[in-house]
Amino acid sequence: MNTTSTSPVTSSLPPLPYARQQIDEADIAAVVAVLRSPLLTQGPKVPEFEACVAQYCGAKHAIAVANGTAALHLAALASGAGLDDLGITSPLTFLASANCIAHTRAAVDFVDVMPETLCLDVAALAKRCDRGKAPKLVVAVDYAGVPAELPRLYELAQRYGFTLIEDAAHALGSSYEYQGETHRCGGCAHAQMATLSFHPVKIITSGEGGMVLTNDDDLARRIRRLACHGVERDHDRMTRNDGPWYHEMHELGFNYRMTDLQAALGLSQMNRLDDWCRRRREIVARYNEAFCGLADIPPWPEHTTPAFHIYVLRLSGAWRGHRRRFFERLTETGIIPQVHYIPVHLQPYYRNHVGHQPGSFPVAEDTYRRCISLPLYSSMSDEDVSRVIEVVHTILSHKP
Ligand SMILES: *Cc1c(COP(=O)(O)O)cnc(C)c1O
Repeated sequence: MNTTSTSPVTSSLPPLPYARQQIDEADIAAVVAVLRSPLLTQGPKVPEFEACVAQYCGAKHAIAVANGTAALHLAALASGAGLDDLGITSPLTFLASANCIAHTRAAVDFVDVMPETLCLDVAALAKRCDRGKAPKLVVAVDYAGVPAELPRLYELAQRYGFTLIEDAAHALGSSYEYQGETHRCGGCAHAQMATLSFHPVKIITSGEGGMVLTNDDDLARRIRRLACHGVERDHDRMTRNDGPWYHEMHELGFNYRMTDLQAALGLSQMNRLDDWCRRRREIVARYNEAFCGLADIPPWPEHTTPAFHIYVLRLSGAWRGHRRRFFERLTETGIIPQVHYIPVHLQPYYRNHVGHQPGSFPVAEDTYRRCISLPLYSSMSDEDVSRVIEVVHTILSHKP
């Protein structure tokens, strides 16, 4: 196979992955300081990180946990969903958005995404609620960092009595305007709970890590308890009855705690969050200008300022149907793309569990067939961006 004609840049250049963390000396010093301190876990850094993120997003409570999947699991449990209930999410998401529902033993179902945003289709969800059993919880994903239509979804949550969880794993730093006010994703202005992930590919990292945010005192207390074995410390009884060691287990919980090492890294990263989001938007604007007309560029809805976790191009024209070839051509030039996502309802587990078949959710399935995520991360140089643009242009201006 002759690939040189479509490979203007040789692979002697360093690879450009679709995502990459950015770590500086201050991050390293913050983690080392914890290593030299008496407490590696359950020390002061976790509550500092929680307070910082809660304040940034505009939520009353933030509970740091081991990863974003644990955050979703606890949020789903706290919704009260269980056997005989129904949970609905987007088919175009990471597995954990659906798995968190399955872990409560509620039935999992999906509603398609809108082509304009690739987020949950609000009208389709309303129709689904009218026609059949209303869900107990809905997990709405801010796909690629674009805010889901939270105000409209929250209205449905009130009308049909479900708990709305915003899976904001892609959207720390994203915001949307509603009725003249700006709201941050994760702030729970229009959701009962929101979850974040601090995996290294996400907007900021703590190594592994996640957070649940909420404005509801009872939900916050429940989530904190579930994250720590279902155990509560009652200060009255500790001093009155037994002693300082006293604790009570009220329900079956988990050890989903974040360590202080992770929290110190996450907290240090928060200092650069706004700069990084700005840089991400700058890169997306350059890509959009360069690729407009060559392929379908990602949604950037009015009244939103997304943080853009990933840059998702959808192939069109002659290249529609040739994603595999495009993926391979990019890889040959040292650009390492990714695909977000294989529709969750088509995973064998969910096919067997829910019985969905190809064709159930055409927008998600069409997106999957055509989508590819190009390098997007805050430390990309202008030259890196130019390199991606040049390679993509060269490939797409030839026949597949
Ligand atoms: C990354 C991600 C998660 C899970 O986060 P982890 O920290 O990797 O467990 C959940 N939902 C979405 C949409 C994600 O992208």
